[in-house]
Amino acid sequence: MSPTFLTSVPSVSSVVPSFSAMKRLAILGSTGSIGQSALAVVDAHADRLQVVGLAAGENAELFAAQVTQYRPRVAAMATGAAMDRLKQIGYAAGVALAGTGRDGLVAVASHPDVDLVLCASSGTEALEAVLAAIAQKKTIALANKEVLVMAGGIVTDAAARHGVAILPVDSEHNAIHQCLHGRNRAEITRLILTASGGPFRGRAASDLTGVTAADALKHPTWRMGRKITIDSATLMNKGLEVIEAHWLFGVRADQIDVVIHPQSVVHSMVELTDGSIIAQLGLTDMRLPIQYAFSYPDRWHAPLPPLDLAAAGRLEFEAPDTAAFPCLGLAYRALDAERSLPVVLNAANEVAVARFLDGRIGFTAIPRVIARTMDAHTPGPLANVATLAEVRAVDRWARERAEELAGELQLKV
Ligand code: NDP
Ligand code: MG
Repeated sequence: MSPTFLTSVPSVSSVVPSFSAMKRLAILGSTGSIGQSALAVVDAHADRLQVVGLAAGENAELFAAQVTQYRPRVAAMATGAAMDRLKQIGYAAGVALAGTGRDGLVAVASHPDVDLVLCASSGTEALEAVLAAIAQKKTIALANKEVLVMAGGIVTDAAARHGVAILPVDSEHNAIHQCLHGRNRAEITRLILTASGGPFRGRAASDLTGVTAADALKHPTWRMGRKITIDSATLMNKGLEVIEAHWLFGVRADQIDVVIHPQSVVHSMVELTDGSIIAQLGLTDMRLPIQYAFSYPDRWHAPLPPLDLAAAGRLEFEAPDTAAFPCLGLAYRALDAERSLPVVLNAANEVAVARFLDGRIGFTAIPRVIARTMDAHTPGPLANVATLAEVRAVDRWARERAEELAGELQLKV
């Protein structure tokens, strides 16, 4: 296959960052699943990692404990009410409180003492903060895939312009990053993302109508936040990851495949020109990809048990069922169209997942809300998403339209 990699898309994950002995971190989303795992990595490598900035959403109790333990120079929370609770609870002296909302995230991510920003907040509020950090030449460790789905072109262009590395934390992309390390990119023909298949793997579409949020939150192999767990059940998580891989590694949609691998031992694979496939295997523990992003380009000892392949037993692979799980196909459709459609896909998905979690729409309504919102999006002035303001305008339109469509479906489902 020729050409293999797009030359027009910079491969921002191939930039090798350089650091002094101690890496100074800002963690956006420190109270979340990834954020807490990241702090566990800091605990395990306190001689190499220092927390300089922390930001969280609403969980003032946990955040107060983190701020007191890690004593960052700067801290921020999403809302004034959360900040007030933090002040009431009390936190360590000498910590500067930044603003709230996007401003707070920007202040934490672009603090002059920060070397590396881990973006692990949910939603897309951290988009401006990621761009501000890139402009300050800080390395980005990216867990939040929505940022790239929404503004992949803007973020990767900025990273390429400033010579900044975007290191993937998402386990599949982290695996691919490891498989690509030191490899000649002209040898690569295909990226193969693995997916566990979620709790409903093997079910037909007709078997999915009555499933509840509680059923969908029972992920078979990974423990994660609620939104990404629902995305895993619909396979939208893998769809978002296909778009994420496009931007991180500079590959076309037709060079990215998805295979269901229920054991989640093989985290992803890279196919080479001669047909060889290089895979990365590991425990299903996010501390490993987080640590790799923190240690890169080095590799550190991890205080975790080794992967026991004999205990894992079988490694199975199967094709995804795109009829029962249409979200994956919707993501490929958005990536083929590129520009504004991924923004619409992401916004409609967030709306639909929130409504499903609240019990207001059924599981099978999620892809319908997204497809109908995408259908309703007509390329016009809004389709141009070259600036953040344009991205936010499309995002706003798509959220409003998806709310309306979900409201209509709610009456019927
Ligand atoms: P969680 O829901 O567990 O955590 C989300 C974090 O973001 C919390 O700390 C939350 O704060 C914070 N947050 C939410 N809104 C804001 C805001 N406006 N400003 C500042 N902080 C905010 O999610 P996960 O940790 O599971 O996922 C985080 C991101 O990483 C997602 O984009 C997800 O797709 C991605 N990811 C997660 C994986 C995982 O294994 N969990 C794997 C791969 C990717 P609070 O709780 O205080 O309100
Ligand atoms: Mg993943």
